[in-house]
Amino acid sequence: MKDFFKGKFTLTRRLFQIGTFLFFLAVYYTSHKQSFLLGTFYSFKLGPIHIVDPFIYLTYLGRNLLKADLFVWTVTGFLIPLLIAFLFGRVFCSWICPYNFLYEILDFLKTHLFRKKPLIYFEASPKSKKVWLALALALGIFIPPFPYYILMPGLLSVLLHQLVLHLYSFILFSLLLILMVLFVDLFFKKRIWCKFICPTGLILGMARWKGGLRIIKRKDLTCKECALCSFECPLGLTPHLGNHLEDCYNCGRCVDICKGLRKKENPLDFKFL
Ligand code: SF4
Ligand code: SF4
Repeated sequence: MKDFFKGKFTLTRRLFQIGTFLFFLAVYYTSHKQSFLLGTFYSFKLGPIHIVDPFIYLTYLGRNLLKADLFVWTVTGFLIPLLIAFLFGRVFCSWICPYNFLYEILDFLKTHLFRKKPLIYFEASPKSKKVWLALALALGIFIPPFPYYILMPGLLSVLLHQLVLHLYSFILFSLLLILMVLFVDLFFKKRIWCKFICPTGLILGMARWKGGLRIIKRKDLTCKECALCSFECPLGLTPHLGNHLEDCYNCGRCVDICKGLRKKENPLDFKFL
């Protein structure tokens, strides 16, 4: 189990993931006593600031475009996640998203404890991702419940909320959906959800700025025959070849692996370009 926490970035990230889970649990347990922190991963209220999932916001906007109120009060809530993605990449996915955390736990158990052979990672071209995102936006605009069922972070946080409130009759459908997605990701095509389907992940990936925080491969240091970072990358990317930017969610696993092997002269590190 210690491999699950091994390395500076991995340990910090696990603490973030566990902290997020506990934070939302505390919010749900206290929601009848306070109104400062309220909400789920669909939309969250932090005092006067509302933070909204970008996909939820865009579909909401699309549905109400012709109305006078263009939800100016929630624009900041839409821009905050985009600004974070612009500067730090898809850190929401790797450091916060509860679906990714759950997936990583199950994948770790599957590969380490039960010694199952790893699956092939799902790959999709940038063009097919854009086409799918446009289709998902259209579906979200014309079928209002669609965004709520396709966003795993929101669905998981609602499930947690329902558990806290003992709303057991409502749990079954969200649980079935989450289990179905996990099953496909774990046993059919690895990471198909986060690399292709999840509209939030796609939007955050597109919002990222090339000069923002990223993993760099130093040109003056060679990897020889190593490539261990690529075997360990949770998204099946190849950071040692330097072609990982588009999908990379800045988890830092490859840097931990590289630092563990090469100590000082390690070719991979985080950097703002
Ligand atoms: S792509 Fe979606 S489900 Fe995957 S980690 Fe990101 S927000 Fe979570
Ligand atoms: S390339 Fe490195 S930082 Fe990016 S997802 Fe893979 S292991 Fe994480």
